[in-house]
Amino acid sequence: MNKLIIEVRINEYASRKHNANVPFSPAEICEEALRCWRAGASIVHYHARDPHSGAPSALSEIYGETARRIRDQTDLLVMPTLGAWTLPSPEARMSHIIELARDPATRPDFAPIDMGTSNVDAYDARNRRFISDETVYLNTTRTLQFFARTIREAGVRPVAVLWNVSAIRTTAAFVEAGLFEEPVYSEIVLTEGGLFAGNPGTVRGLAAMADFFPASIRMPWTVMCAGGNLFPIVGAAIERGGHIAIGLGDYPYTELGTPRNAELVERVAGMARVMGREVATPSETRSMLGIG
Ligand code: ZN
Repeated sequence: MNKLIIEVRINEYASRKHNANVPFSPAEICEEALRCWRAGASIVHYHARDPHSGAPSALSEIYGETARRIRDQTDLLVMPTLGAWTLPSPEARMSHIIELARDPATRPDFAPIDMGTSNVDAYDARNRRFISDETVYLNTTRTLQFFARTIREAGVRPVAVLWNVSAIRTTAAFVEAGLFEEPVYSEIVLTEGGLFAGNPGTVRGLAAMADFFPASIRMPWTVMCAGGNLFPIVGAAIERGGHIAIGLGDYPYTELGTPRNAELVERVAGMARVMGREVATPSETRSMLGIG
């Protein structure tokens, strides 16, 4: 079977309230990335944060310093986020990627594109009410085409982020239309913690997505769970030939005793080996995902 690609989702915009090991500064992110690399990760996904408060940052200097530090010490594939959807325009969401891509030392290997629009209001189950009720994560088809073209011109590969089956179909159409090149690294987003934009973080939730990947288009998939523990489906993903994207950015894993990112990676790598699947090195990941 193909080797397992492990992506670490190192911080997102997660707070340190439930797990103090969430890295904020470029130095902290790099230190964590190094540990994860040693444990078997081959891709690191990160968000720029204010080094002190942890508030979201859009500064390309922070994105760049982080990429540079990681590249100095590892051969990890680097995937900074696209700008937060709260930024005013598609151009603003993309600007740091273009900036980083100008210098080979900071050029991202990937940038993620959420392949559709979703309602992202969280439900508070205890109080039986929605915490917000008009939060739309807007990604029009025009915006997605703009992202696909500008990322390609910058020499960066897209990650198709898939919240539902519609996004899988849109991605396949992007390949057909020549907007994406195969293979397209495809990230299934399952959602827990009161977020209903994706399927639940269960084996059935995963299967209902995995079943819809087109046989004729190369879309190697990985799976993550926003707001929930990914381990209940790690075995199923490994068995089906999928890949794993895990980290403290998505969930604090307090039931595992507030681990570090690297401990999550180590557990996943251990499960893969027990199940007879080897873990891909960064250079193997590059060739599997068609990165030059
Ligand atoms: Zn992210």
